[in-house]
Amino acid sequence: MPEKGKYPPDWESLRAEAFIRAGNRCEWCAVPDRATVMRFTGEFASYWATDDGGVFDGAGKAVHGFHFSDAGESRFVYIVLAVAHLDYEVSNCSESNLRVLCQRCNLRHLAPLAKAGRRRKKYKDQMRLWEDQ
Ligand SMILES: [Zn+2]
Repeated sequence: MPEKGKYPPDWESLRAEAFIRAGNRCEWCAVPDRATVMRFTGEFASYWATDDGGVFDGAGKAVHGFHFSDAGESRFVYIVLAVAHLDYEVSNCSESNLRVLCQRCNLRHLAPLAKAGRRRKKYKDQMRLWEDQ
């Protein structure tokens, strides 16, 4: 469960609504929740593929004519979406502040905090999202 006192009492409802709005997909790269997808590195780091051979770009648009042999390293990742707070304030649960993100996109979202090496508490609060879900 999220840390009591920081989230509003109706957090579970807000969280569920965010997932519905997002269509159970990452709002930044469109990977589906609870699916295993292939991720790539290098110039194709934003791409992902499904086990039936579908390849999608970082916006979730189907990519045709993709050659896996050109993609460099790849690995399978089990996607677990979580609701992130764009302003890093877990108490700010306005619809415009919430985004359903995959692990990769949430790490991108948190990168400024991690790089800054400050606001550690907020960073830890955000990373805890995956433990809560
Ligand atoms: Zn994503």
